Amino acid sequence: MVRFVYSYPYEEALLELAKGKVLRNLHEKGYEKAKIAQEIWNKYEKEVLDLYRLMYKIKISEESIKAYISLVAPNSFSDPFTISLRKWADIEKNARSERGFVYSVIHELAHYFLYTRDERSYVNKLHARLQKENTLKNWGANLHYLIQAVEFAIVGEIFGLKYAEYSRDWVINNWKTNEYGKSAKLLKKHKVPLDKTCLEYIDKTLPNLSLRPAKRYNIVAYDKQASA
Ligand SMILES: [Zn+2]
Repeated sequence: MVRFVYSYPYEEALLELAKGKVLRNLHEKGYEKAKIAQEIWNKYEKEVLDLYRLMYKIKISEESIKAYISLVAPNSFSDPFTISLRKWADIEKNARSERGFVYSVIHELAHYFLYTRDERSYVNKLHARLQKENTLKNWGANLHYLIQAVEFAIVGEIFGLKYAEYSRDWVINNWKTNEYGKSAKLLKKHKVPLDKTCLEYIDKTLPNLSLRPAKRYNIVAYDKQASA
C-alpha cells in the first residue's frame, strides 16, 4: 500500500536545497534504503492502516500511496509524501532508527489521511473545530494537536505505552519553541490518551479546552465518566 520509492532527480533537487555535501554513492544507497524501508514498513502497515480506519473513521481504498525516501531532506513531509532518513540512516541495523522511521511514516500518514479526505469526514470536522477554537493560537500548532495525538496513539498501540510516553516527552523537551513542542505539551496537560481513543477524547473535551483558566478545565470529570 505505502510504496517506498527513490527518485534520482527529486533527490538531486533536495540535495541542492539542503546544500549538503554529497554523500558517497548517494543514489546507490537511496535505492537500497527504499527497499529496506519497504521491508520494515510491511511489518507494521496493516496494523497502522486499521488504526487509521478506526480513529479517523475513513475508508482506505488507495491501491498505493507513493512515498519518496530521501537521505538528504532536512525533514519528512506529507506532500509530496517524503520520508527523510537523514537521522535514521542505519534503519537496517539500529532498532531506534527503525522506530524513528516508522514514527515518521505514521506522522506523515496522519497528515495525508486528513488532506485527502472529504471535509465532511469525522476527522476533518474535528480538525475544523480545533482551528475554530484556536486553542494554541497558531494554525500549525492546532493542526499538530490532532496529528501528534494520533501519532503518539498509534505508537502506543503498536509499540506500547512506554514508547508513546517517551516519544511525546521527547518532543516536549527537544522542541520547546516550535509548534510540535507546544502541541505535545498541551496533549500531556490535557491528558489525551496515548491510545486509539485519543480523537474521541479530544472530540468530547474540546469545548472545555479553550481560553479558560486551567482550574476550569473539566478533564478530570471526563476521566471519571470515561472509566465509569
Ligand atoms: Zn506534521
